[in-house]
Amino acid sequence: MFTLGSLGRMPERPYNFSAGPGVLPLPVLEQAKRDLVALPGLGVSPLEVSHRSAWFTEVIERAEADLRALLAVPDTHRIVFCQGGASMQFSMVALNLLRGAGARADYVVTGSWGQKALAEARKEGDARAAWDGRSDGFIRTPSPGELAAALGPGAAYAHITTNETIQGVEFPANPIAPDGLPLVADCSSDFLSRPMDVERYGLLYAGAQKNAGPAGVAVVIVREDLLERAPEDLPTMLDYRTYVREGSLFNTPPVFSIYVLGLVAHWLRQDVGGLGTMAERNRAKAALVYDAIDDSGGFYRGHADPASRSLMNVTWRLPAEDLELAFVSEAAAEGLTDLKGHRSVGGIRASIYNAMPHEGVEALAAFMREFSADGSR
Ligand code: PMP
Repeated sequence: MFTLGSLGRMPERPYNFSAGPGVLPLPVLEQAKRDLVALPGLGVSPLEVSHRSAWFTEVIERAEADLRALLAVPDTHRIVFCQGGASMQFSMVALNLLRGAGARADYVVTGSWGQKALAEARKEGDARAAWDGRSDGFIRTPSPGELAAALGPGAAYAHITTNETIQGVEFPANPIAPDGLPLVADCSSDFLSRPMDVERYGLLYAGAQKNAGPAGVAVVIVREDLLERAPEDLPTMLDYRTYVREGSLFNTPPVFSIYVLGLVAHWLRQDVGGLGTMAERNRAKAALVYDAIDDSGGFYRGHADPASRSLMNVTWRLPAEDLELAFVSEAAAEGLTDLKGHRSVGGIRASIYNAMPHEGVEALAAFMREFSADGSR
């Protein structure tokens, strides 16, 4: 019978290219392992400790302070932790900022997650696709000029997805919304991968389980004055004001997820040295994969337009589906796991989040070059 004990020695960790939950920094996992049974000085597990304890008060305050420092979040903006994933934010954004607004919301749809966000917003009010990349197959983000033309005056907010995880399409820089139009962003899959100009955003949110920590918590950063627009009769747990007022402690928060998120934020500040350095590392890693695609003489076909290529999720096709299957299984045999593309796009997707080591991406690029060399097969 299978028992955890029968596993014996831990197998080597493979290079895990999962889109999410994704790879976490090894020092974070090791710290969580050390703390898991008994926190030093407390003697209890982070899975057992009260969310009202002094220990957790310090954890959540430090996590918030580290996020604030990493992203240079201005005093005008509050940071809160919600459950329900980024998907619940699709609804919370619209409940708080659209339902009572008496105006429409403009969604910039650059992939599958933007479509989902728009569908939820439509349940709460008048929401439209102000720009939609679907007819092109979601291969790019709008240019600044297209964006300016698409986002009309008078909307309650404009919503973008900074990085479309499934298609591998990312805004190359902070998009700019017209003056006075609050910009709302789903940053789930490129959160903390590069510096952001938070001041430009009315609200941004991210499910933690790619770059920021485990599943179970979503980070929301919101300009406080926008919350005055929310209707008074929202369910307590769907009203951002509850989280702001109670420091995300109205009810029991996901203690363990916030604890690990705090370790990740600390790792980014102390070990990595901030988001500027992280972004440079991410650019270098992504270049290894894109170069392998571009040097393959057409064997690999990148999904995204070069100007909108994601630094987090690299997506590409091979000449035939059976080659794609062979690629995924042969890569897994080499310790390069979870490379199968999302079923809606097909092909290959390599998610190369912050914690994916450079060597992991080098190994992938080397494998790609070898595979295409014999795979003109
Ligand atoms: N938005 C984006 C960009 C995502 O990548 C995901 C998850 N992959 C979601 C939203 C949904 O997140 P969750 O599963 O946390 O609801």
